Parts: sequence; structure tokens; C-alpha cells
Amino acid sequence: MERAILLIYTGGTIGMKTNPETGSLAPFDFGQIGSEVPELRKFGIRIETITFDPVIDSSNISPKEWVRLAETIRDNYESYAGFVVLHGTDTMAYTASALSFMMENLAKPIIFTGSQIPIGVLRTDGRENLISAIEIAAAGEVPEVCIYFQNSLLRANRTIKYTAEHFNAFRSPNYPPLAEAGITIKYNTPYIKKADCPPLPLHVDTAIETRVAVVRIFPGLRPEIFRAMLGVEGLRGIVLETYGAGNAPTDSWFVDAVRETVERGVVVMNVTQCAAGSVDMELYDTGRALLRAGVVSGRDMTVEAALTKLMYLLGARLPKELLERCLNTPIRGEITL
Ligand code: ASP
Repeated sequence: MERAILLIYTGGTIGMKTNPETGSLAPFDFGQIGSEVPELRKFGIRIETITFDPVIDSSNISPKEWVRLAETIRDNYESYAGFVVLHGTDTMAYTASALSFMMENLAKPIIFTGSQIPIGVLRTDGRENLISAIEIAAAGEVPEVCIYFQNSLLRANRTIKYTAEHFNAFRSPNYPPLAEAGITIKYNTPYIKKADCPPLPLHVDTAIETRVAVVRIFPGLRPEIFRAMLGVEGLRGIVLETYGAGNAPTDSWFVDAVRETVERGVVVMNVTQCAAGSVDMELYDTGRALLRAGVVSGRDMTVEAALTKLMYLLGARLPKELLERCLNTPIRGEITL
């Protein structure tokens, strides 16, 4: 049977070309992608497209679109060998991380890509990103949610947007690339998650809790401001961005505010502000105080992964103990043990 790939265009720079009448960038009809990128015809695979209506700059993406995307893939799952999602780069790491948690028992590739320069512009990076993402999705070697950008295939929930300037927009600071594209595409097999054998049925969980916050601490943070942020009514979870290996002030106003928040039933997770490395709350007194206050370690998760995992697990309404254990252990390869 002919291999088929589903290409889903959500929006973002990649799908733009210059409108000759106005001179400004506007999205083009992805149904016509073959005429924009004629190389796609050489693949010998069927490429079908779905375009979000309206297409969305990724700064406007919300969990509503994550759910729509997850459901689109679920509804088409049996008909395609893999999926390529074209998405703006600004929040791609959030959407791709969220999907990695929402798609349970995934056995097919879901490859996110985009570009820094629109595909209709001569120096675009979108053409190569798109062609290789399709090749990787069709090959079926990586049954994971990934981001492909400038020759590197990265595990989605390990990825951060690193530069707004250069073509290598994404990095995976705590986990090696799953593949690198040179003359050939070389898969880094030992680091790729294996699909279950025999495959378990795909389950898509769309309950996402949005009553959450990311709170980044900084020198000079005032007690009343910190308390106001933590004290929001209805809050269910916080990703606390701390210093270094998970350290924070030991001042009693700070520790008390965190402890009282945990006692109110809010889940507080500790993630480092550093781009690379891990939280270890046992290392310094400044970390231990958070541990004693009931804070859960986010270990080496990216902020994007920690936040979307928290939203996903809170949505699943697990008992507190199980929720904290799941937050702290890898469920989709997002943590190094
Ligand atoms: N603002 C755009 C977006 O994220 C930038 C891009 O596509 O890279 O949708």
C-alpha cells in the first residue's frame, strides 16, 4: 500500500509568501504545497494536507488548539504512516511538549517543524525543514513527538526555542538529538523511545488544566508580590523557576509562602532557570527548604515540558500522591533519571 503522510498546517512563518498586491506576508493555500515545493513530488509518498481555519500565529495558540491538533491526529491516525505539523516557532516547544503528554501509546512519528524565513522567500530554511520532516515522518523510525529544525531531530518535550535570530532555532540541552540530517539521516537509535510491541491502542487525553502559573524568582522579589502571585484563588499548580540546582531564598517569608501554598492543595514544582542541568533539592540548604515545604522536583525538565505535564496531569485528576510521583518520574522521556 502507498505510504501516506498527513501534513497539518496550523500557521506560522513557514506557510507565508509575499502577497504581490500588498507586498506583505500572508499565508498561502497548503493544498497547493506541491507547486511551492515541487521536490515533494519526488518522494513517492502520498502527502495530504489539513489547514487550520483560521491559521494562527503561534503566539495566539492556546490549549484549545492543542486539543484540536491532538484530535485531528487521533481521527486520522489509522490512515497515515506519520504526521508533520507545521507550526510557528514561538510556542512550538509548548505545543509539541503538550502533545507528547496528551498522546498516550503513540506508535507513529509526529514531527513538528516550521521556519525562520517564509517558504515563499528565496533564502527560506522552510524548504529543507519540511522535506526532511516529511522524510522522517514517512520512515517511521521515531514513534515520538519531535521537533525537526535545521538538521536536528529533537525530542519535543526536551526542546526549547533558543534563538530568534539564527536558523538553528531549537535546542535540547539535556538530551541528545534523536537524529541528524547530513548526506543521509542518521538515527540515534539508543536514545529513541520504542513503541510498545504489540502496539497498545492510541489514547488521546484532552483534559488540560489551565489554572496554573509559571513563577520566576529573581533577586529583589518582594514578599507582597510573591504572595499575591501564589495566592490567586483557584490556582491548581505552579512551576517555580528557581536558581541553579533548584535553589531559592531561605527567608522565612518566602519559604512560608511556598509552604502555605502547598498546604492549600496547590502543586508546586521546582524547575531551574538554567537552560541546561537539573534540580537537586538535596544539594544546598536553599533547596532543602523547598523540599521541606512540600515542593516537587522537576529534575531536568524544560519549563515548557514541566508546565504542559503539570497541565496534563492536573487535568487527569489523579490522587495527590500519584500526581506528585508522575510529575517526578519520566512518563514520555522528558526526565533523565
Ligand atoms: N510569530 C511566528 C509564530 O510563532 C514566528 C514563526 O513562525 O517562527 O507563529
